Amino acid sequence: MTRLEAIEADITTLAVDVIVNAANSSLMGGGGVDGAIHRAGGPDIRDECIAIVERHGPLPTGRAVITTAGRMPAGHVVHTVGPVWGTVDEHEAVDLLASCYRSSLDLARDALAASIAFPNISTGVYHFPKRLAAEVAIQAVSDWVGDDPGTVESVTFVCFDRDNLVFYRDLLRI
Ligand code: ADP
Repeated sequence: MTRLEAIEADITTLAVDVIVNAANSSLMGGGGVDGAIHRAGGPDIRDECIAIVERHGPLPTGRAVITTAGRMPAGHVVHTVGPVWGTVDEHEAVDLLASCYRSSLDLARDALAASIAFPNISTGVYHFPKRLAAEVAIQAVSDWVGDDPGTVESVTFVCFDRDNLVFYRDLLRI
């Protein structure tokens, strides 16, 4: 059975098979976790992202792509674009956020990953309410692993602030 856990950490330091980046559609890096991943990973990730956007165009919200992890200890980075709270109705925002988690897990499974770590997608500058985002994330991941987890043995929710850690620990009952 796939293990779900929540920790407080900087996602760029984790030696898991896949870390997920809360990117924007341009894949060119930005602030928050996106900036941290590009800084820690180095220019190779940006070059791969440029090639992806040249080939396929900007990444739509809710979708994901995979690159190497450059200088970070992780194996790969999955870049996904979360919804910006307030730009679509709440129902659609929830669907799009759930889609980020599912699309990322699909790519991790395709890459034969055993371990994947997620940041709290959309809860930074995209202002998705943190508790609702945690509920959506845990539900989407639980449904996905219940369906066909393939090689994925562990999913880590990486919290960068205390609020998120408290919500995740409460919802996961750990
Ligand atoms: P978004 O645009 O999707 O809201 P942000 O990067 O602004 O993305 O925030 C997403 C989450 O990532 C926030 O909860 C933020 O605290 C967290 N975060 C920022 N830096 C890191 C990091 N180095 N490791 C893990 N999480 C981080």
